[in-house]
Amino acid sequence: MINKTKIKILFCAAEASPLAKVGGLGDVVGSLPKALSKIGLDASLILPFYGSVPKKYKVKLVKKDIVIEIDGQYDRFSIYQTKLPNSRVNVYLLKHKFFDSLEIYFGSKKIKFNQRIISDVERYTFFSKAVVEVIRALNWKIDIIHCHDWHTALVPTFVDEYSVKYQNFPNIKTLLTIHNLANQGISPLDILDYAGLHHDLTPAVMEDYYDQDGQVLDLMKIGILSADRINTVSPSYAKEILGKQYGEHLEKYLVRRTKHLSGIVNGIDDYFFDPSKDKSIYRKYNHKNFSAGKATNKEKLQKILSLKIEKQTPVFGLVTRLFAQKGLDILLPVLEKLLIAEKFQLVVLGSGLPDYEKAMLALQSKYPKKVAVKIGFDEHLAQRIYAASDFFLMPSAFEPCGLGQLIAMRYGTIPIVRATGGLKDTVDNKSGLVFKNYTQNELEKIIKKALRLYTAPKMLNIMIKRNMQKDFSWKKSATHYVALYNKLLK
Ligand code: ADP
Repeated sequence: MINKTKIKILFCAAEASPLAKVGGLGDVVGSLPKALSKIGLDASLILPFYGSVPKKYKVKLVKKDIVIEIDGQYDRFSIYQTKLPNSRVNVYLLKHKFFDSLEIYFGSKKIKFNQRIISDVERYTFFSKAVVEVIRALNWKIDIIHCHDWHTALVPTFVDEYSVKYQNFPNIKTLLTIHNLANQGISPLDILDYAGLHHDLTPAVMEDYYDQDGQVLDLMKIGILSADRINTVSPSYAKEILGKQYGEHLEKYLVRRTKHLSGIVNGIDDYFFDPSKDKSIYRKYNHKNFSAGKATNKEKLQKILSLKIEKQTPVFGLVTRLFAQKGLDILLPVLEKLLIAEKFQLVVLGSGLPDYEKAMLALQSKYPKKVAVKIGFDEHLAQRIYAASDFFLMPSAFEPCGLGQLIAMRYGTIPIVRATGGLKDTVDNKSGLVFKNYTQNELEKIIKKALRLYTAPKMLNIMIKRNMQKDFSWKKSATHYVALYNKLLK
């Protein structure tokens, strides 16, 4: 076994909280390296230097004008350095005009740079190649590159390519963590030429030519076939994606890699998500004084969101990307029905598909004293909702891990979840309210059960107290990652 203190890991990803976060990917990449560093690994991370990285993080230039060949031409980028707050973890920020804009992802937007239309697949292909170029240019000695999701799924291919091309290139193993298989980075075929990849060196790529009549490339699939190991963010999801229902058309390739596929449940940054220290919330509290603490938070939030100020009314929180994955198709009709008959309030924070946004806003217009909806991304408000709510809704159609339920439990809010993926692995009947099948009927029943539970404060308080005392930190999972890294280096 390799001495763990010697392992040098480079995380590469599109997000890392608090510098750049859209969802759970950012939480994980911003917190796991800190946990690894605490237990003695040499962990650093590299991410694009987005225009939206807050200016308060002081950066220093490491090297400018690193040359990269992209799209058959030479281009340049620079590397800056900062630290993950409250840690020794170095963050390298890759500065290039592709990432200067304020938004993290372009989504469906495409922008013309020089002669080429650039979308996210070009941006992250560029980033993936640049990561490997940085290692070469700065002569970094790294044992493992830990890639995350489709954005950096091409890195293992570049590592293979560079290992052959450059004699001094270090012997690096690669791990790809799948945070969400639904997003795969579907690319035009000429992305290979754009990246300057030799087709004959990339078997995973060649095979892909025969997919979908040879029309597209799938970057996630390339990562699955080419990384030394793959893992997902919960053991249940690691099993689920081997089947048709959750495999997103990649199950055949995942099955092929079963021996190298595993699942490790995510932790949360328990320093950041701590109701006893959280400066975003109205009143801090812990597992002993949560009744008074949560009551104040509820009252203030009700006031600020123009809801009826009622201490005794249960509040349901929903903080999420508003996409089908998150269970909106069953949740919206159930809310429509229950808001007429039952006494509760709903606070929603999220953005996503315009239809879901509109439907949520329509609920607010219809029940302004019972429903408050904020469309957008707002970390402070998110924390206030976790602190003020009695229940947290996560009726997901699928959920690789989910962090909302963990944050909710830490803030003494009972999660209502569907038993899928990481929700199944982290919430049970003792810690939350769990339903099995993705149906309106089961969701309605479980929400009604929550309303009944609310009238039994003794039981509710036992659950809250127990949840708040649990360890949701990275401690345990970080040791599982160390074991996985050791397997890679064997
Ligand atoms: P996913 O990664 O699929 O979006 P997770 O539950 O794993 O879902 O993680 C979501 C993370 O993003 C949580 O920390 C959640 O609080 C946060 N989040 C989601 N939507 C918003 C929003 N609109 N504003 C602030 N934070 C949000």
